[in-house]
Amino acid sequence: MRSAAFVLCVLIGFVSRALAGEASEGRIVLPADVVPLHYEIAVVPDTAALSFAGSVKIDIEVRQATSRIELNAADLTFSHVALSGVAQAPQVSFDASQETATLTFAAPIAPGRYVLSIDYAGKINNNAAGLFYLDYDVAGGKKRALFTQFENSDARRFVPCWDEPAQKSTFTLTATVPSDEMAVSNTPVAARDKLMGGLDRVHFAETPKMSSYLLFFGLGDFERISRKVDGVDIGVITKRGDTAQGQYALDAAARILPYYEDYFGAKYPLPKLDLVAGPGLSQFFGAMENWGAIFFFERDLLIDPKISTEDDKHGVFIVVAHEMAHMWSGDLVTMDWWDGIWLNEGFASWMEYKATDRFNPAWNVWLRAMRAKEGAMRVDSRAGTHPVVQPIHDVLQANEAFDTITYSKGMSVIRMLENFVGDDAWRAGMRAYIQKYAYANAVTDGLWAEIEKTSATPVTDIAHDFTLQEGVPLIRVDAIHHAVRLTQDRFTVDDSGKAPTAWRVPVVEKTLGGKSEWRGLVSRDKPAVIALANGAVPIVNAGQAGYFRTLYDRTLSARLAAHFRALSPIDQLGLLNDERALGYAGYEPMTDTLALIGRARAGMNPLVLVDIANQIAALDVLYRDLPGRAAFRAYGLRVLRPLFAKVGWSAKPGEDTNMPLLRSDLLAALNQLDDPSVIAAARKRFAAFLKKPESLTGDLRSSVLEIVAAHADAATWEQLHSLAKSAPSSLEKHQLYLLLGRAHDRALAQRALDLALSDEAPVTMRPAFIDSVADYFPDMAFDFAVAHADAINTMLEPDSRNEFMPRLAGESHDPAMIAKLEAYAEAHIPATARQETVRIEASVAYTAMVRDKRLPDVDARLKRRH
Ligand SMILES: [Zn+2]
Repeated sequence: MRSAAFVLCVLIGFVSRALAGEASEGRIVLPADVVPLHYEIAVVPDTAALSFAGSVKIDIEVRQATSRIELNAADLTFSHVALSGVAQAPQVSFDASQETATLTFAAPIAPGRYVLSIDYAGKINNNAAGLFYLDYDVAGGKKRALFTQFENSDARRFVPCWDEPAQKSTFTLTATVPSDEMAVSNTPVAARDKLMGGLDRVHFAETPKMSSYLLFFGLGDFERISRKVDGVDIGVITKRGDTAQGQYALDAAARILPYYEDYFGAKYPLPKLDLVAGPGLSQFFGAMENWGAIFFFERDLLIDPKISTEDDKHGVFIVVAHEMAHMWSGDLVTMDWWDGIWLNEGFASWMEYKATDRFNPAWNVWLRAMRAKEGAMRVDSRAGTHPVVQPIHDVLQANEAFDTITYSKGMSVIRMLENFVGDDAWRAGMRAYIQKYAYANAVTDGLWAEIEKTSATPVTDIAHDFTLQEGVPLIRVDAIHHAVRLTQDRFTVDDSGKAPTAWRVPVVEKTLGGKSEWRGLVSRDKPAVIALANGAVPIVNAGQAGYFRTLYDRTLSARLAAHFRALSPIDQLGLLNDERALGYAGYEPMTDTLALIGRARAGMNPLVLVDIANQIAALDVLYRDLPGRAAFRAYGLRVLRPLFAKVGWSAKPGEDTNMPLLRSDLLAALNQLDDPSVIAAARKRFAAFLKKPESLTGDLRSSVLEIVAAHADAATWEQLHSLAKSAPSSLEKHQLYLLLGRAHDRALAQRALDLALSDEAPVTMRPAFIDSVADYFPDMAFDFAVAHADAINTMLEPDSRNEFMPRLAGESHDPAMIAKLEAYAEAHIPATARQETVRIEASVAYTAMVRDKRLPDVDARLKRRH
C-alpha cells in the first residue's frame, strides 16, 4: 500500500527480540484447527441499492476434530450455511467487535477435507473499505464505479473468509454485471456468459495461492490500454475517455517489469498486470498492491498535461514502482503477520527510489528520498515513537502500523544495510529469500539469514539494533590530534530517549577532496578514531545512506560550513538537515543553520535549494503571531528573491529536469512570506487565465492558482469555486476543490469547511477540504471536525477514523491544543489506537518549545546583522 500521507507515530514501549523470529504472544487470530485451501466466490452487485448478494464455496481442511468453525465476517448477513457430508445446518453466531462468525455443529467434525458453502449479502460502502463505490460526473449526469480495498483486514466485508495474511489460498471469482461494463479482478477473464436482462456473468481465472487482503474486484464504464512485455499483458484501466492520461503510467510499468524480474530473479507470476485508476480519495492510502490488479486513486496514476506538474510525473513513476515491487515483496512472499508489515512497506519504499533512479537518473531521487528519511527521524526522536518491528495484537493496531516509521525508517534502514553489505550481495540474498518463501509467508529474520549467506558482512545484529529498538543514533565527531574521534549517543528532542541506547552504527567517512573512504561500525562501547590531515574536512555519513544524525564539534562544524558549496549535493542536504534538527533541539546554536542557509547560491543543485526554500517557509510558519516575524520575513526575502530571479516564472529551454520543482517550491515559499510582488504577478496571470484558460498549464498553473487561492478575497474565492464545480475531469476537480481550503482569510476558510458537509463534491473528497484548511488554520479545522465528528466519520474509511481528527491539529502551535486532543481521544478513540494522538501531542509541544526557546536566538542574530 502507499500511504495517503506520511505522518503518525506511536507508543507501545515494550518489544522483545523474539518478535523478529517467531510468532509473538497475545495475537488475536482465528483458531488453527480449520484452514482454507480454495475459495469459489460468486457476487451479484446491486450498484443502485448499494448492496450485493454473494455465495462462496470454501474448500477447507479440518486438522483436529471440532464442532466449531470460526472465520471472519463483517457487515455480512448469512442466509444459508452448509458443510459437505454434514446433514444438519450449523448454528451461526456473529461477534461484531471481533468481526467473526462462528458455526456451531451438533456433533464434532472429523479431520479431513470439506466444502463449506455460505450464501450471504453485504453492503457497498461509500469509502474505501470492502466493496465500495466512487461516483463521478459525466456529460449530462453522474456515473458510479465499484472497487474493493481489503488491506489490512476488510476482505471479510466482501466474503466470509480466514482474513489473515498467513492463510494463503487460491481464489476463483465470478461476478454478475451489466453487459456494457468492464469487470476487473486479479486474473484475466476466463469466460463471459450472456444472461437475460442486459447482464453478463464474468468468470475470472483461478489466482495463485495468496493472502485474502490481495483479492480485487472492480466494475464500471472503463477503458483499457495495454502492452505486452515479456509475455505479460500490462494494462492501465481508467474511466471511459481517460486512457490518454494513463499512457505515462503504462510506459513506466512496461519499463519497470523486466527490471524487477531480473532484480528478484523470479518471473512475474501472473499472465496480466492491470493498473486501475479510481476517481476519489482516501485519507488512509493512495494505492494498493492487489496482485495483478493494482488499484490507484487517479492522482497517483494519471497524468493530464493541462494540470499535472513535473513533481506529479515523478510521483506517479515512484508510486507505480512502489506498488509493482509489492508484486514480489508482499504478494509472492508475504509477512506471516502484521508486525512484519515494515518489511513489505520499507522494502517497497526503498525499491521505489531504486527503480526510479535506474530509469530516471537525472531526477536525482535519492536526494528526494532524504525528505522521507528526515520525516522518519523527526518522529523517531520524539515521544510517541516505536520500533520498526512492533507487536501487533489485533486489526486496530495493524491499521496504525502503516506509518512513517514503517515506511520511511524501514526504507532508510534497508538502504543503509544494502550500502553496508554491497549491492551484489544484497541482491543475491534477496533473490534467495524470494525463491525460498515464494507463495508462502516469511518473518523478518528469514531475510537477514539469506543475506548473511551471500554477504561477507554479518547483518543480523545491526538490523536488530535498528529495527527492534526505537530512536535515532547520534554520532559525535570531535577533532583530536591528527584525527577525529567518533562516539555514539542518542539524538532526542525531548525526554523520550534519555535512557542510553546502543546501536552498532555503520558509518562511511570521507575527507573532502580525498579519494579513499573509511567504513566501520561505531557503537557506544567502541568509538572509532580516524586519522585526519591538518585542516582536512571530514564528512561523516558521506553519501548519507546512514540512519543517524552527525554532531561535529565547533571547529569541524565551522570548517564544513566554510566548504559547504564544495560538498556533493547529497552531503549538503545531509548537513542542512542535521544542523536544522540539532539547532531546533538545542544541541547547537540555531544560528549555524542560518549560516548554512546564507551560503545558498543560484546554480546549486535545485533539490538542495528546494530544501533551503522549504526551511525558510517552515521557520516563517513557526513565527506565526510573533513580533520577530517581520524581521524574519525581510531576511527570508533577501535569501529567496535572488534565487527566484535566476529561476524565473517560466521554464527555460534545456533547464535541469528538477528546475520546475525548484521554481514551484520557491514560489510556495515566497507565497508563505506574503511577498507582494509575487502575489501581484500571480494575480495578473490568473486574470489572463480566466479569459484564456490555456494560458496556464502544468507547474505554472498549479503555482499561480495556489498563490491566488491563499490570498483570495471573496470574489476570487467564488471564481475558484465555480471553476471547481464545472471542472471537466475528476483529477482537475480534486485539484481545484482543495484550493478552496487554502484561503488565509478566516471567513473563506470557514466556507471551505462548510463545503465538507454539503453534498456538492464527491463524498471521498470532502474530508480533504478540512485537511486543506488545517494547513493554515489547524485549530479551527480541528474544532470544526470535532463539532461535526459524526457526519465526518461516515465519510471516512474505518481505518482512518482514529487518526484523521488528531492529524488536523498537527500544525498547531498552541499548547492548549494538547488538552483538547487528550479530551477528544479519551472520549472517542479506543485506548489501543491512540498512537497518532500521542505523536501529534508531542509535535505540538515541541513546536511550542521551539517558538519559545529557539526563535529568540534567530531574532538576536537577525538584529546583529543590521
Ligand atoms: Zn506499499
